[in-house]
Amino acid sequence: MTSAPVQIDVLALAREQVLERGEALNESQVLEVLQLPEDRLEELLALAHDVRMKWCGPEVEVEGIISLKTGGCPEDCHFCSQSGLFQSPVRAAWLDIPSLVEAAKQTAKSGASEFCIVAAVRGPDERLLAQVAAGIEAIRNEVDIQIACSLGMLTQEQVDQLAAMGVHRYNHNLETSKSHFPNVVTTHTWDERWNTLRMVREAGMEVCCGGILGMGETLEQRAEFAANLAELEPDEVPLNFLNPRPGTPFGDLEVLPASEALKSVAAFRLALPRTILRFAGGREITLGDLGAKQGILGGINAVIVGNYLTTLGRPAEQDLDLLVDLQMPIKALNDTL
Ligand code: SF4
Repeated sequence: MTSAPVQIDVLALAREQVLERGEALNESQVLEVLQLPEDRLEELLALAHDVRMKWCGPEVEVEGIISLKTGGCPEDCHFCSQSGLFQSPVRAAWLDIPSLVEAAKQTAKSGASEFCIVAAVRGPDERLLAQVAAGIEAIRNEVDIQIACSLGMLTQEQVDQLAAMGVHRYNHNLETSKSHFPNVVTTHTWDERWNTLRMVREAGMEVCCGGILGMGETLEQRAEFAANLAELEPDEVPLNFLNPRPGTPFGDLEVLPASEALKSVAAFRLALPRTILRFAGGREITLGDLGAKQGILGGINAVIVGNYLTTLGRPAEQDLDLLVDLQMPIKALNDTL
């Protein structure tokens, strides 16, 4: 007589596989985690926290972000209020170099080790790259901080230029799973984004790549996205939750329920045990005030201070006070060199 195969509980399996051995969950295992009932949430968050503490340590990376060029982007990412194709209120604007240096100074003062210069573009043109080069030089002369950039899709020549400028990390988000991407963006492809990321990695810069949850993807596609990221092996993954912006095609989508957002963060931690997992935009409306605490105790180990480009984040002090309360040290600049 053959006995029925014993169904192993996915959290028991994750405890052994991810926590003990440091081996990531695969796509179907991540899906099982995403399908767990509400009453397993606390257990899941505790496990994700243990995984983060064991494989990343207690430090939390603090980063600042500044928009060098806002709005007027020719692309049609359906979530984005900076697209010039939608009726959204964000207007095109450029920041000058002194303001950039001032923002870097303020960011460094908050204890942040990384300062990311962002531009709303399909990819940089010569004018933008010249502005970035001048900005980086001016910041280096006055502020001790690592510099990251997020300037859209790059050519090989542009990748080499940024590496030569000493850019430490490059952010370019895949945004969602490969199968869901055509429902989110039609003006460029997922593979074009992937190619930029591959060139960035080969040039020796750190790769920062994440996306937005709650853009109408199925749980299967969310698990697929976690697996896509695991294959890329980024140094950092910023996780955003959709904050539906008026005037964008996703303006009427429902906000992800808090428990689902937290469950997703924990599932991504189990798929990416050693990666810096950062809370990025949209968490205030999804998670409310308690969200930061639950997230940092559920797998997150990096936060952004200050504004999130076009929507207001929590004040920096609130996040930094929280880290003191939780006795989690801010990652020092020296550790990141
Ligand atoms: S490329 Fe970037 S700035 Fe432009 S619409 Fe897409 S997300 Fe927004």
